[in-house]
Amino acid sequence: MPELIEPRTVWLVGAGPGDPDLLTRKAEKLIGAADIVFYDALVGPGVLDMIAASVERISVGKRSGRHSKDQCTICDLIVRAALAGKRVVRLKGGDPAIFGRATEELNACARHGIPIKICPGITAASAAAASAGVSLTLRGEARKLTFITAHARAGERLELDWTHLADPEATLAIYMGKAAAHAVSNELVKAGLSPNTPALIVENASLPNERIVHTRLDLLSIAVGGKIRSGPALLLIGAAVASKPVRPTLPRTVFFAREAMVNERQVPAFTT
Ligand code: SAH
Repeated sequence: MPELIEPRTVWLVGAGPGDPDLLTRKAEKLIGAADIVFYDALVGPGVLDMIAASVERISVGKRSGRHSKDQCTICDLIVRAALAGKRVVRLKGGDPAIFGRATEELNACARHGIPIKICPGITAASAAAASAGVSLTLRGEARKLTFITAHARAGERLELDWTHLADPEATLAIYMGKAAAHAVSNELVKAGLSPNTPALIVENASLPNERIVHTRLDLLSIAVGGKIRSGPALLLIGAAVASKPVRPTLPRTVFFAREAMVNERQVPAFTT
């Protein structure tokens, strides 16, 4: 039987949103078969704990504004490890093919004739919706799901097609959108989306320090400013994400910021 990872090959592996139980079985096997693991800052600590002590592990952590290694350096490190005959696992938060710079790494390996494969992971939008107990689509009302990144390079304006995005029949899943929350809500309302449109912010989805804020489009940036800390956060906007009275299964913090922040009702964290 062929080995799961041959020497001199690379796997781009989705590490999911953080909770190690949300890792695929294949990802777990690949982590167990690697000689070397390169990982991002968003890979959960519980996932990193699965890497055996004998395996080389290299942080190539990138968090917005604090890039510890640039993309070329990361590609170069991966290529060099594979050329040295190692079984390389490149762990990326969520799904490697969603805002994960996967193409750069696929191309770098291809240029050197290094076989590279992808193991998908649970993306932050799926994890955030699951944590909040909502669906990302809604029969008859939200027929479309749009994944966008609201990350603009330092000093650059956020250029998005707001007219197209302000679609009342779509759910918007906005990655890297915390800093742009004000622009996102302003531009969407200007483009015709109702200020009352339900919005949800989930920080650290699937992790013990998860925070969930139910709000609406016109209060998005107030809610981010008031309730969200320094963790990764996903913004969900659209009719489908209106809050439902669900009983959470994890201890966590849930806030409602629907009318105005002054009327905010904090729901005590539930424990199972
Ligand atoms: N490939 C990743 C996305 C990388 S972009 C995926 O598929 O999920 C990084 C952005 O993803 C963060 O800025 C944040 O918007 C979102 N994100 C990643 N992990 C998250 C988490 N646990 N909770 C909330 N948002 C998360």
